[in-house]
Amino acid sequence: MAAALLRYPARMMTWLRRLEQATRPVDDQTKAALQRRWAELPAHVKISSQTLGRCGIGCEGTHGVFPKCNFACKPCYHSRDANQVRIDGPHTVAQIEKQMSYFHTSRAPHAHAQLIGGEVSLLDADDHAEALQVMRKYGREPMSFTHGDFDYDYLRRIAVGPDGKRRFGRLSFAAHFDTTMVGRQGIRRAYNEEDLDPQRRGFCDMFRRLKREHGVRFYLAHNMTVTPGNVDQIAGVITRCKAMGFNMFSFQPAAYVGDDRRWTEDFSKLDPDHVWRRIEEGAGVRLPFDVFQIGDARCNRTAWGFFLGDRWYSVLDDNDPADVAVRDAYMRHFGGVHFNAPLHLLVPRLMRVVAKHPDLIPLALRWFGRTMRRFGGPVALLHHRIVPMTFVMHRFMHTADVTPAWAMLERGEMSDDPRIRETQERLQACSYAMAHPESDRLVPACVQHSVLDPVENLELSRELPIVTIRPTVETPAASTTI
Ligand code: SF4
Repeated sequence: MAAALLRYPARMMTWLRRLEQATRPVDDQTKAALQRRWAELPAHVKISSQTLGRCGIGCEGTHGVFPKCNFACKPCYHSRDANQVRIDGPHTVAQIEKQMSYFHTSRAPHAHAQLIGGEVSLLDADDHAEALQVMRKYGREPMSFTHGDFDYDYLRRIAVGPDGKRRFGRLSFAAHFDTTMVGRQGIRRAYNEEDLDPQRRGFCDMFRRLKREHGVRFYLAHNMTVTPGNVDQIAGVITRCKAMGFNMFSFQPAAYVGDDRRWTEDFSKLDPDHVWRRIEEGAGVRLPFDVFQIGDARCNRTAWGFFLGDRWYSVLDDNDPADVAVRDAYMRHFGGVHFNAPLHLLVPRLMRVVAKHPDLIPLALRWFGRTMRRFGGPVALLHHRIVPMTFVMHRFMHTADVTPAWAMLERGEMSDDPRIRETQERLQACSYAMAHPESDRLVPACVQHSVLDPVENLELSRELPIVTIRPTVETPAASTTI
């Protein structure tokens, strides 16, 4: 009896210690990862709005897991051999396991990660689901990158297993829709962005149906490659499609990267300010992209906000010093908090932050009041629903610049050529990493696509060749490629 009584306080102490650890706003591994990330950043991006190393470590993506695609877009950033690699579920899942495990141990316990390669929907639905589950297992919040040309049954089979049980409470997809794409069912080639609106709407409708029938929530991003040919159609895409169900519009000015047989226009004509102005035209308002910076501004511009009716509002007003103070307080006190944690952990973590810094409460209340006044107060909420909407521009770089820039960085040299130096600076501040566990390193996605993909895809085409089954004598008309 006495021994049992003595054991009780010890157990209590262990339980309290575990509770303290589980409700820590930011765990030690994440703290260390953020410090490492900040220390690695070049000086020119260590500005007050920088989120890397303060709020997060940046985004991640897969490579070499399913290089093949069934479209023939112009341009295409995949190397020539990508389409010679067979889609193979076990290969995909095994590679993702290795890459995610590496991210988890070498970077941080949690991050957003893109399930990306060739076309993800060429994977069998069960393999696609398993890939997402593996990413979640390693603390990654996955987003599937697709051309969106699949049907509802495929989506349902990802979300709901063969046993009829729901596999996911929420799915995130980024769908590419634009006139540079070739191969979509029903509209193999579109010459006007507007012609693709029915496909955009149909894509969003599938997710609404999935939510209705199976209770799976969704987050959808709309991706668009920008060329001189469609840059002036950006505004129209946003205006017509903003209420379809997307919560992000992301634009990627085309770069000379990947398969050079698909380079059809003069991409060097694309001016980033011009592209951003077209995005602002679509949003109907100036989009402040310097409130929160992700890496280098020459790579990324992001504006976070929401639509209320037809008007877009930024979460923070960059011209209001009080809002900028809110940004600084957020980064200082909430940076690194894992907001996708289950609610029973997230709530006590946030409460601990607020208990330690009670001045956050009046700061948040005043921000809330200012924001309400900006959009017209509670009356406006009676008439319109708030639709969160993020606008992004991500500018990949040309292979001709990345190749020498990376070679010099590998030798520890900085170039004197302004163009190559800019490329090097951007690579050093890269916010989009790919994992190479076999060589124990992370590389920027630009390096992956410009330098490493051609060799990797050639090797994969030997490892996973596409096999053509020749027709037998009895069935002369039949021929299958797998
Ligand atoms: S270096 Fe390339 S992959 Fe990295 S953030 Fe810049 S454009 Fe993106």
